[in-house]
Amino acid sequence: MDLYEYQGKQYFARYGIPTSPGGVADTVEEAVVQADRAGYPVVVKAQVKVGGRGKAGGIKLAADAEQVRTHASAILGMDIHGHVVHRLWVEHASDIAREYYASFTLDRAAKLHLCMVSAKGGVEIEEVAATDPDAIARLHVDPVDGLSPQGAQRLVADAGLDPEARAPAAELLVALYRCYVEGDCDLAEINPLILTTDGRVHALDAKVTLDDNAAFRHPEWEQFAGTETFDERELLAKEKGLNYIGLSGSVGIIANGAGLAMSTLDVVTQVGGTAANFLDIGGGANADVMAAALEVINTDDAVLSIFVNIFGGITRCDEVANGIVEALGRVDLRSPIVLRLDGTNAEAGHEILASHISDRLVVDETMLGAARRAVALAGGEK
Ligand code: GDP
Ligand code: MN
Repeated sequence: MDLYEYQGKQYFARYGIPTSPGGVADTVEEAVVQADRAGYPVVVKAQVKVGGRGKAGGIKLAADAEQVRTHASAILGMDIHGHVVHRLWVEHASDIAREYYASFTLDRAAKLHLCMVSAKGGVEIEEVAATDPDAIARLHVDPVDGLSPQGAQRLVADAGLDPEARAPAAELLVALYRCYVEGDCDLAEINPLILTTDGRVHALDAKVTLDDNAAFRHPEWEQFAGTETFDERELLAKEKGLNYIGLSGSVGIIANGAGLAMSTLDVVTQVGGTAANFLDIGGGANADVMAAALEVINTDDAVLSIFVNIFGGITRCDEVANGIVEALGRVDLRSPIVLRLDGTNAEAGHEILASHISDRLVVDETMLGAARRAVALAGGEK
C-alpha cells in the first residue's frame, strides 16, 4: 500500500524522524485553521499519490491566511497527472539551505537492503541516476547486522553532504532504517531531505510503501484504510477472492497457476498483443471460480477477447470444461473466449465443450496458437 505524504510523515514521526509541524485539510477554511496552528509562513501541499507535485503547481508557499485561501482553493480539485486533489497538507514552511535525497528499499538481486543517499536532492532521483550516477552513494545493509551509526556516518560523508548536516543526517538514517524494517516498508524515501538555514536536517517529503503482507502485525495500519486508491476491477476481484491485477491492454487473461498466468502474459505480448490483466484462478477451476473470473474481466471495457489458458495437473480438464460451460450460462460475456485446454483429462474436456464451440468460444490446441487467435480477435498486433 502506498501512503500519502501526510500519512508517510505521520509514520515517520512514530520512529522519531523529524518533519515540520502541520495538519491535513479537506477545505479552504480547514487549510487556514491548520496554517494558523502551524505558524506562518506555511506551505500548502496537494495530497496525491504521484510525484512531481511541485512542478505541477500542487505545492505553494503562503505568507498569510489570505494567500492560504488563494492557494488552497486553486489546489483543491486540481488534476495532477490524472489524480484529483481532495486533501491538502499544510505545514510550517522551512528555510532550505540544501536539498538531499535518502531512501531505503530492498535490492532483490543482492538479497540485501539498499540505502541510497545523495547531495543532489529535490529533483527526480531517476534523473540523477541517469545523468550523474556517481552523485548517489549506496550502501547494502545486511538485515541481520542492521545499519550501524558508523555505517550511516560513512554513507553521508561518501554522498558529500555538507559537513554540518552529516551528524544529524546519519542519525536520521538510523531512524529511517528502523522505520523501514520494523515498520515493514517496501520503500521509505525522503526527497528532499533538507538542511535548514539554522542547521537542522529533516524530511520535507515522504514516500512510503507498506508491505501489505505484514499488515497482520500492524494494527496501526487501520488508520490508513479507506484512503487507499483502488482499481475498481481489483476491488471486485478481491471481493470474489481472485488473484487479479489490472493492466491496460485488450486481451483478458485467465490461467490456472501464477507461473502459467505470467507465461500467458508473455506469450500474448510476444505475438504483439497487450494483456488486460493478470488472473490466476489457482487449482480450483470449478464453475463458481470460472464464472467469477469471467465476470471480473467482463467489467473491463478495454477487453476485446479473453484467453483462457488451462493446464490440467491436479485440476482435471473435464471439470474445467464443465465449469466453463456453466459459467457461460451465468455470465453474459461481451467478448469471445479463446480456450487452450491441455493436461489431465483433456480429451474428456474437449468432448464436453464440443457442442458449445462457436465464434464466441474458440478452442486452440497450443498456447501460442491460442494467443495468436486471442490477439487477432482483439484487433491484431498493437
Ligand atoms: P514533489 O514535487 O511531489 O516531490 O513534492 P515535495 O514535497 O518534494 O516538494 C517539492 C519542492 O517544493 C521541494 O523540493 C522544495 O523545493 C519545495 N518546498 C516544499 N516544501 C517547502 C518548504 O517548506 N519551504 C520551501 N522553501 N520550499 C519547499
Ligand atoms: Mn518530493
